[in-house]
Amino acid sequence: MTDYNQQMIEKYRENFLKEVEHNVEEGEWVKMCMQCGVCSGSCPFGPYWEHPPQELFMMIRAGKRDEVLKSDSMWMCTSCYNCIARCPRGLPITHIIHGLATYAKRLGLAPKEQPTAKFAQLFWDNLTKTGRVNELKLGLALYFKVGEGLKTALENKDLGLAMLKAKRMNPFELVGGHKCKDIKGLHAILAKAEEIEERKIGMKA
Ligand code: SF4
Ligand code: SF4
Repeated sequence: MTDYNQQMIEKYRENFLKEVEHNVEEGEWVKMCMQCGVCSGSCPFGPYWEHPPQELFMMIRAGKRDEVLKSDSMWMCTSCYNCIARCPRGLPITHIIHGLATYAKRLGLAPKEQPTAKFAQLFWDNLTKTGRVNELKLGLALYFKVGEGLKTALENKDLGLAMLKAKRMNPFELVGGHKCKDIKGLHAILAKAEEIEERKIGMKA
């Protein structure tokens, strides 16, 4: 258990709803949910989530901290915005779901083997390194980290060759690739954003 997690447990003892309201993006909306179930019924991945959005909101109010924060459900959201468009109470459901995932990660409680959580980290690392997504490196990293590496690559070899032929894939991207013009500037912006975020967390902690 991380120190930060322990700190939050002590600070919000027995009041998980308050913890969510103070620390999760748009978390103050959770109490507005009237449990109609429209979001869960509208979510294309709802049947595959252990706890679809409506259930997560109910669990937050019931104080099921561990069950919510350690769940892989939040990592299943594809940001299709179906739920937001249909919620009769206007809850920013997608943002709350991503906020919960981010908070769980910050606390060190996000499921380590969850493929979409791994993908999110790979995508972020890939993008922030040069300021541009290197799709070839991202695809390969994904095969080797989430899939079965060589086996997956071999299964897709015909597709890869066709992409090469059609000039939709450039093997030189592996050694270089696109970069944004001012990488230092980009990294400075990211560092500043991180500092602001840390300060915000510190203020709330
Ligand atoms: S659609 Fe809105 S009000 Fe209904 S359960 Fe989902 S979040 Fe709650
Ligand atoms: S935005 Fe996320 S939670 Fe909402 S319907 Fe789409 S996948 Fe489901």
